[in-house]
Amino acid sequence: MKLYSRIRYAPFKEQFAGKKTAFATKNSCCRRFIAHEEFPKELPTADDFYAAEIDGLKEYRNGWAWGHCPFHADSNPSFTVNLDTGAFRCMSSCCGVSGSNIVSFVSQRDGLSYREARRFLEDW
Ligand SMILES: [Zn+2]
Repeated sequence: MKLYSRIRYAPFKEQFAGKKTAFATKNSCCRRFIAHEEFPKELPTADDFYAAEIDGLKEYRNGWAWGHCPFHADSNPSFTVNLDTGAFRCMSSCCGVSGSNIVSFVSQRDGLSYREARRFLEDW
């Protein structure tokens, strides 16, 4: 048994020989290693997300689009979004909400924390 385990773990140890990492010792932190691979799930692109969430969205130029603001009662389109980066801003003087990505958009609209908004978008 001892001999078998030595042969089995030899290549694994060599792989992490030069690195200061907790994974070098056998059976330690395996769960964390797997969790790190699974964590950054893909979010929807800003293009698809805003097309579904904002009504009356109309592309203008350079990837910017105008639509009705979901943060206040909007008759004239005053909400502008960037379809590449997800940045948004409301140009209305009574509102003035802004952010730099779709996670920020969801967290401000629904009153969620960053982590909750991100989880919402992963399932979106
Ligand atoms: Zn607004």
